[in-house]
Amino acid sequence: MKTLPMINNISKPKFNLASREHQGEDTIINVKGVKIGGDHMTIIAGPCAIENEYQMITTAKAVKAAGATMLRGGAYKPRTSPYSFQGLEEEGLKLLKQAGDITNLPTVSEVISTETFDIVEAYVDILQIGTRNMQNFPLLKRAGQSKKPILLKRGMAATIEELLMAAEYIMSEGNHQVILCERGIRTFETYTRNTLDLSAVLAVRKLSHLPIIVDPSHATGQHDMIEPLSKASIITGAHGLMIEVHYQPEIALCDGPQSLKTDDFHHLMRELFFLHDHHLQLKRQIRD
Ligand code: PEP
Ligand code: MN
Repeated sequence: MKTLPMINNISKPKFNLASREHQGEDTIINVKGVKIGGDHMTIIAGPCAIENEYQMITTAKAVKAAGATMLRGGAYKPRTSPYSFQGLEEEGLKLLKQAGDITNLPTVSEVISTETFDIVEAYVDILQIGTRNMQNFPLLKRAGQSKKPILLKRGMAATIEELLMAAEYIMSEGNHQVILCERGIRTFETYTRNTLDLSAVLAVRKLSHLPIIVDPSHATGQHDMIEPLSKASIITGAHGLMIEVHYQPEIALCDGPQSLKTDDFHHLMRELFFLHDHHLQLKRQIRD
């Protein structure tokens, strides 16, 4: 039986393996030579859903040329409506792998069930657990038995502590390669798809050694908000971003309105590299 440490002498279990007290140094995860955590800025980009070979490879080549460090694409899509495009499943994973091989980018794709875990695990470099499954405990436990890194997105109604507890589920099974992702939470505000909680980045960096990235695409649902919020995320201390990009967002089968065109992504990347370099220099100057 695993025992969990207590806080404040009350019987409330606290995350342990994920905590700064357990490990002072930032965790840096290395995926095929691409690092996430510490002072590295990792940019995961690609379409919401893998639609066909042309779409996946065209978009992959464009995000690589712009400087993205990892490639995303959903093959199992957790859609609100059962009538919406559900993803190409294994066919999609094959296309993502092909695009990753061509561009030499590590790949990320979502896994939505324990039944399909093995198949996603066989094709991708990082497995994503989405907002709707952040507290799917059997899925978290299965992820904990994987040898591949897990990108764990914050539940849309989850507290920061619950997010770290979900990470603890994965880590307590033996997999310490967990990347957290702030992707917006549900609030009373409906102008944006969700409300981006940038203070979660600050809180996670204080409470945990795990890397945390921001997904401004799902946080806002609006492509014209991606650039300023991406910059704000990097300045706040996020270890990277996950951004939806499509070679032609008008015809995207999923999340077109929040997807950046490849040219706009290219422009954003140039600014982000510049910003990140200057931010690091400033941090070092202040420290020394
Ligand atoms: C996604 O990244 O494709 C996705 C569905 O995100 P979320 O789980 O944050 O909604
Ligand atoms: Mn999406």
